Amino acid sequence: MPDQYKIVQVEDYEWYIGAETVERIRKKAEQLQHLHVVNINSTYYGGGVSELLSSLTLLMNSVGITTGWRVIEGSPDFFSVTKKMHNALQGAEINLSERKIQLYEEVTYQNVVRNHLDHDVVIVHDPQPLAMINHYRRRGAWIWRCHVDLSHPNKELWKYLVPFIEKYDAVIVSGKEYMQKLNIPQLVFMPAIDPFTIKNREMNEDEIDERLKHYDIPTDLPLVVQISRFDRWKDPEGVITAFKLARKKEKCTLVMLGNVATDDPEGETVFESLLNCKEERIIILSCQDSALVNALQRRAVVVVQNSIREGFGLTVTEAMWKGTPVIGRDVGGISYQIENGVNGYLVSSNEELAERIVQLIRDKMLREKFGHKAKESVKEKFLLTRYLEQYLDLFQSIEPNFRIHYRPL
Ligand code: UDP
Repeated sequence: MPDQYKIVQVEDYEWYIGAETVERIRKKAEQLQHLHVVNINSTYYGGGVSELLSSLTLLMNSVGITTGWRVIEGSPDFFSVTKKMHNALQGAEINLSERKIQLYEEVTYQNVVRNHLDHDVVIVHDPQPLAMINHYRRRGAWIWRCHVDLSHPNKELWKYLVPFIEKYDAVIVSGKEYMQKLNIPQLVFMPAIDPFTIKNREMNEDEIDERLKHYDIPTDLPLVVQISRFDRWKDPEGVITAFKLARKKEKCTLVMLGNVATDDPEGETVFESLLNCKEERIIILSCQDSALVNALQRRAVVVVQNSIREGFGLTVTEAMWKGTPVIGRDVGGISYQIENGVNGYLVSSNEELAERIVQLIRDKMLREKFGHKAKESVKEKFLLTRYLEQYLDLFQSIEPNFRIHYRPL
């Protein structure tokens, strides 16, 4: 088969996870060959959910489980409402007016009419398509996969959403702290990365130079990098504040690379507001180039992730996989990944972020130590095969009446 038609197989992971694990996953998948699974989310690109789905759906098909991926449609005002819901699930205020509810439910229903779902397992991602469950005669198990930081959801919104959520057979969240009081089972699956994508695969120094040169990114000074959707939760202004403090002590260049997801109407405004901060050594780029993400995560002296809330933070995993030290805010999913002082630093303020940037620029040995440990921890805990196996165990635990008795690995 020509190379461009080759799909990554579980066997390709053997080098990282060992033959025994590959064999165990294959065996589990063999018992589930009859299943027909579908995922539903709200964007085909931009953000961690689509990143995960693009690799996971292929890997599931490669082990013989027929798995699809559908994206709901909606006008910008629908996505403006769902973005407010997303923000409120992470604790922001929301004015949940009749108009917003009506728009949300109307567009949800239109998507129900377009999507004929009689699959054995339906996995619905995040709040945008959540309410679709209301309109189906169920033929299989329905799972709500919530990727956001659910530790402090806005009470008013939560009260509105719970009746939808409790119609599902289970909820999957990305961390223990996100579990809520619900009358259905809640499982914790942390996201993971695919090491074979353009974004994560090996790159040599010439390839990295070529990508950076293409975007006129200077490499004469140490690079400090944050890569994130343009979103207030990622606190890009805080990164600039910290960078300005750090460069008083060590010369360096800041690169902030971002993109705007199709379901996020706020992104453009956040990007535009940052443009005033552009300087020769503060580079702000908006584009979608996975090879550039890879090159920056590899060449950076330090990658930062200054999010105020973060469901998980694949950008942290990706940089750690490349052996680059990461400084992250001590919140949500970032704290599941970085062990402070062991494989990176966790910080709680922009001042602390600045101090750690300076420290890492000055200390090559520490960078190497963190980088090595960071890569090891991703290999152990955050590769896609672990995530796949959790799903296989979940599918195995679905009973004929769709009740779920999940037993972790
Ligand atoms: N990403 C990208 N280009 C960008 C910014 C982000 O490809 O300019 C990718 C990033 O590499 C990661 C995903 O988008 O794979 C972001 O996932 P994460 O979990 O960090 O945050 P989310 O956007 O889901 O809040």
